[in-house]
Amino acid sequence: MAEKALAEKRWLAETLFDDLGFRMTFEVDKVLYELQTEHQHLVLFEQPFFGKMLMLDGATQISKRDEFIYQEMMSHVPLFAHGNAREVLIIGGGDCGIAEEVLKHKTVKRLTQVEIDAKVIEFAREHFPEFTGPVFADKRFESVIDDGAKYVAKTDRRFDVIIVDSTDPQGPGKILFGAKFYSGCKRCLKRGGILVTQNGVPFFQTGELTSTMAKFRRLFLDGSCYVAAIPTYVGGHMAMGFASDNARLRQTPATAIAERYRKAGSFKTKYWSPEVHAAAFALPRFIAEAVAKAKPRR
Ligand code: SAM
Repeated sequence: MAEKALAEKRWLAETLFDDLGFRMTFEVDKVLYELQTEHQHLVLFEQPFFGKMLMLDGATQISKRDEFIYQEMMSHVPLFAHGNAREVLIIGGGDCGIAEEVLKHKTVKRLTQVEIDAKVIEFAREHFPEFTGPVFADKRFESVIDDGAKYVAKTDRRFDVIIVDSTDPQGPGKILFGAKFYSGCKRCLKRGGILVTQNGVPFFQTGELTSTMAKFRRLFLDGSCYVAAIPTYVGGHMAMGFASDNARLRQTPATAIAERYRKAGSFKTKYWSPEVHAAAFALPRFIAEAVAKAKPRR
């Protein structure tokens, strides 16, 4: 009986780690939206434990239950490390979860999001109104549909913080892990600016992280990362690349971050805190060693 019941349920596999011979499968209560867009395969489904889940090209993007960890750590860490960000750019970010967190910072005067796939925005507005509602209602928010790599190569806009909330280095996201794209980001950063990137799970994707670190070090005086544990990004810590021309920005003590957080109105968070912010840069030794060894190619 159990096998029969199991057989009737649909299970969706994350295929991102097929090259490692490893899959994570999710029982599907209901598929809400599935299509092959111009850029990628998109499936949004209801999952009994994680709630609504989005997969793009077989890679888990967000789940309702644990999205707060990644969205908070990809937004509040660079913004509080910077201390006075006014112009912010998000590359990717289709579900608008990060945009919602960035807009909690009243110093931010304008937030531009450059997302390649209009369909992701369209479905997010229908299925994640809790993020997209407040974001699209905020006059500071500007949505651009374009390839992020093209945008940073040609825009005359300059930014205090650039957040690369991309998919993994496959399909349309691949170009967002390249040296040309990072040099475009560097071009668009103001003095004292910070670049933060979604950089995968080092336990499974070490090469992805070290490749980004080496490219950062060709462009910036300081290239490193910080970590957070996100249940649906399986494999332990997830790394977020952090590049700037001032190493002190990632070494800001929790007390200074706490003061900035107080001035920002101490808005509610569920994962990020001034202490977690500072601790996130204390890397587990195997990650610290991989990052230290990543040298820019001559
Ligand atoms: N926060 C989740 C995560 O990190 O898995 C979700 C990331 S968000 C859904 C990733 C977005 O990047 C997608 O909406 C995808 O369409 C977009 N994207 C991929 N390649 C892109 C490119 N070259 N330029 C702009 N956006 C891109």
